[in-house]
Amino acid sequence: MSILVIEDEWSIRKLLKMNLKEAGYSVSFAEDGDQALEMVAEEVPDMILLDWMLPATSGIEVLRYIRRNASTKHVPVIMLTARGSENDRVTGLDYGADDYIAKPFSPNELMARVRALLRRSRRDIESDILRSGDIELNTEERRVRRGDSDVHLGPTEFRLLEHFMRNPGRVFSREQLLNCVWGRDIYVEERTVDVHIRRLRKALNLWGKDVIRTVRSMGYALEK
Ligand code: CA
Repeated sequence: MSILVIEDEWSIRKLLKMNLKEAGYSVSFAEDGDQALEMVAEEVPDMILLDWMLPATSGIEVLRYIRRNASTKHVPVIMLTARGSENDRVTGLDYGADDYIAKPFSPNELMARVRALLRRSRRDIESDILRSGDIELNTEERRVRRGDSDVHLGPTEFRLLEHFMRNPGRVFSREQLLNCVWGRDIYVEERTVDVHIRRLRKALNLWGKDVIRTVRSMGYALEK
């Protein structure tokens, strides 16, 4: 998760850097609005923390730009500001800020808001129920059905199937599957992927034809 912090005050940047990094986010910083807009044009972050009072281009102007621009309009934004009045809060929210925190804030409260907003926005993007042919996967209830039958999957097989269903038809190499499903930092041999694919196939094939395609010397894909 990448977070862009747009803040001209050095001490607050330092505080945010420490807390966000410690929580495992990758953080980048802009000291003014123009720099922020350049950075956003290059790479769209997963979330923006935006100071209201910035030199030159104000926080509100930056927010308006972010909300008007097609590639950034869905990025969640938390406004940071010294202005505590209700009017300013309403203005920020009117312009499309998702949340608002008044300075001085406690790092714990800010981190809780960041987590809550990321959770909320992820839920908006990722719907709870995925469908592919006669297979239905419910991420909230951790349930898979094929036709009228429940498919019983282990946690790894579940994540594998979810990954395939979010990317139907796309071929993934064993290495890509390890990175996406197991996580980059865990060391697992590539043939482990084959073992779990076999289990997933077996469970799904109880209730219908094989939908996982083996692509020779490439990897695996879910039939569209
Ligand atoms: Ca400021």
